[in-house]
Amino acid sequence: MPDYRYDPPARPGEVSKLDTTEDYWREILSDQEYNILREEGTERSFTSPLNDVKAAGVFACRACGLPLFTSATKFESGTGWPSFYEPIDEAYITEKVDTRYGMERTEVICARCGGHQGHVFPDGPPPTGLRYCINGAALNFVPEADL
Ligand SMILES: [Zn+2]
Repeated sequence: MPDYRYDPPARPGEVSKLDTTEDYWREILSDQEYNILREEGTERSFTSPLNDVKAAGVFACRACGLPLFTSATKFESGTGWPSFYEPIDEAYITEKVDTRYGMERTEVICARCGGHQGHVFPDGPPPTGLRYCINGAALNFVPEADL
């Protein structure tokens, strides 16, 4: 068994919400993953090994395995967090306005498990002009050969 969670929906584009408990997440996630995914934490920039991943593959939610981004839409933003210009499917992402810290930002959430991923900003590259700024600890990278 690979040591990552990868669990695409049975029918592409259709996500059903996971109904589980905080105890379950405490059990399967590390302290850092729990802080980011369940408590909307943020990892320190330039700390995720996923920043440098350029190989072809898919980035899946580390909590529930839903594929969220592909390497084809990953770009070097210089921010120190894995950055993408679009999700695999808009149905896989929930967005929510986040006004913490006196800023208005758009939070990016896994549509299946409700796990916090990061934020999306309107200063990304073409073709979308969006920058999904995602915590590496909220993602698993699955190389294309393993899909
Ligand atoms: Zn998830």
